[in-house]
Amino acid sequence: EQKSVTVLGLGLMGTALAEALLKGGHAVTVWNRSPGKAEPLAAKGARRAATAAEAIAASPVVIVCLSVYANADDVLAGDVLAGRTIVQLTNGTPQQARALAGRVTGEGGRYVDGGIMAVPQMIGGPDALVLYSGDETAFEESRALLDAFGTPHFLGGDPGLAPLFDLALLDVMYGMLAGYFHAVALVRSEKVPAAEFTPMVTAWLTAMMGSFPAYAHALDEEEFGTDVSSVATSQVAFPGLLDTSRDQGVDPALLAPLRDLLDRAVAEGHGDDGLARLVTLLERPAS
Ligand code: NDP
Repeated sequence: EQKSVTVLGLGLMGTALAEALLKGGHAVTVWNRSPGKAEPLAAKGARRAATAAEAIAASPVVIVCLSVYANADDVLAGDVLAGRTIVQLTNGTPQQARALAGRVTGEGGRYVDGGIMAVPQMIGGPDALVLYSGDETAFEESRALLDAFGTPHFLGGDPGLAPLFDLALLDVMYGMLAGYFHAVALVRSEKVPAAEFTPMVTAWLTAMMGSFPAYAHALDEEEFGTDVSSVATSQVAFPGLLDTSRDQGVDPALLAPLRDLLDRAVAEGHGDDGLARLVTLLERPAS
């Protein structure tokens, strides 16, 4: 089913989105602040609009993909939102998403927020996960368009959910990278090539990830007992990791805060619990 759609913002990601829509056979109107970026898309059949307002007015569904939210606020200015669905794929925070949703719905539009868990080269393929939240009816009615980007996953009516999940997944990525980078620095302190150590890390992490469902179960059922490994065991072992890091001349800064968390868990009487207990301490920040 061919649909009419607008894409605002033709950076690396916006261009990939517009191309996927063109490939899907849709009627695509594009706009970019620097007009030159619209030219290759026009050559592939997109219609160029002279202003953002003109581009918005051209279609019932408007995809927004700019550097930052503040820009989306500027670009969506003017009295053109009524009756349209705004699908905001610019990365931002839950608060920004809720604020923009309020503005769009206040002007009579419908709002869907999205988080793209893919790089531009993956757009249009099955591995491109795109998280959505906000107006579910508007999301469902736009599915023919959104399916062109990859695999959509709708999270719920609160527009802040897509950016929250997006940031939570980035959170896991940075945590994993912090551990990997620190570990590589440790072995490199003895001149071991990173390439020699890395396959061991991959296998280790893969095995460790097998325990995530058990952690999730412990949290959801509030059953923190363990027959695997206790908070106390980790608390005893952890200083050795930090000492060795210092002895080898490697900065332990990325890992050091975990020691405080383990100490706090033991001090509060949770030494016999499994490590999922640490989540509940994060949920009650130390003053
Ligand atoms: P780019 O830097 O390639 O493009 C940024 C876009 O924002 C350009 O179209 C630029 O216009 C526009 N822009 C910036 N400031 C303004 C402004 N004040 N007014 C109007 N337009 C403005 O970024 P990407 O395309 O890579 O990223 C876009 C969004 O997608 C970001 O939120 C990013 O986090 C997200 N994303 C990107 C991924 C990636 O791998 N690239 C992955 C997942 C999400 P101009 O051409 O005129 O400068």
